[in-house]
Amino acid sequence: MRWTRRDFVKASALAVPAAAFPSAVGAQQGSTPGTPSAPPPAPAVFTPLRRNVGIFHQRGGTIGWLVNRDGLLVVDSQFADTAPSLLSGLEERSPRAIDVLVNTHHHPDHTGGNGVLRPAAKQIVAHVRSKENQVVQGERMKATPTLPDVTFTDTWSVTLGDETVRARHWGPAHTGGDASIHFEQANVVHLGDLLNNRGYPNVDAPAGASVHGWIKVLEQMAAHYPADALYVYGHAEAGHPFIGTRADLHYQRDYFTAVIEHAARARKEGRAREALAKVEVLPGFEHFGGQKPRLGLALTIAYDELAKTG
Ligand SMILES: [Zn+2]
Repeated sequence: MRWTRRDFVKASALAVPAAAFPSAVGAQQGSTPGTPSAPPPAPAVFTPLRRNVGIFHQRGGTIGWLVNRDGLLVVDSQFADTAPSLLSGLEERSPRAIDVLVNTHHHPDHTGGNGVLRPAAKQIVAHVRSKENQVVQGERMKATPTLPDVTFTDTWSVTLGDETVRARHWGPAHTGGDASIHFEQANVVHLGDLLNNRGYPNVDAPAGASVHGWIKVLEQMAAHYPADALYVYGHAEAGHPFIGTRADLHYQRDYFTAVIEHAARARKEGRAREALAKVEVLPGFEHFGGQKPRLGLALTIAYDELAKTG
């Protein structure tokens, strides 16, 4: 049974507010990887969440980890310059090699450390489109990507000791190859960049993303996972936690709904698509942080999607 530990989880961790995990509060995002002007890496921080599952931060997308007697699993790898501190921290916590590295999607702040982890990892797993996107990204960056050796289309799972970890692809959203990773007994769900807590989400259309699809995916996940699931986010704006609850999924869904309504109104009023790219404020979401051009981008993509469906 999947939720036999639900009561335990409920009693142990849900009542702890995010503020109890200082390192789980957002600080920065969107720094450019691997460039000479990139800031020096922030300190590496491991934060336990529930049971043997926790998160790691330094720079880039939030990393998830499972460390138990019979297994060591890592979700995402950040960058080549931060992966060594992840590795040494894991070595302090377990004598094991990494049984599995799972990539939530292909972006370089989530797969850039794959090459560093590769010699220590028995297996790298990702959605099939994530692998394809990584190849295209590698060509664009003139770099040789370290690709997954196992891919899946719908779901993939592994049991390590007393924990089962299940990756699931829900359809086009942040990219065309996203996966959520559920630690079923701990009841922690790593969302990768399917959720950017209070920051403008990046709709990567060339990689298969969809605004309409992303709404569906958020609703499907919110309905699928238990009400007391603890979610982990790839990014969070300063002052907002990297972890949270189902309400955050609904919040970001409401943002995308507002994006579509705005684009639909523009179409109806005969406004040019180009004007949407310059929109800087979406009523109700003025407080969003991060990269503002992502709002205009989301609006034009929503506009195009509406044009296709009539
Ligand atoms: Zn991403």
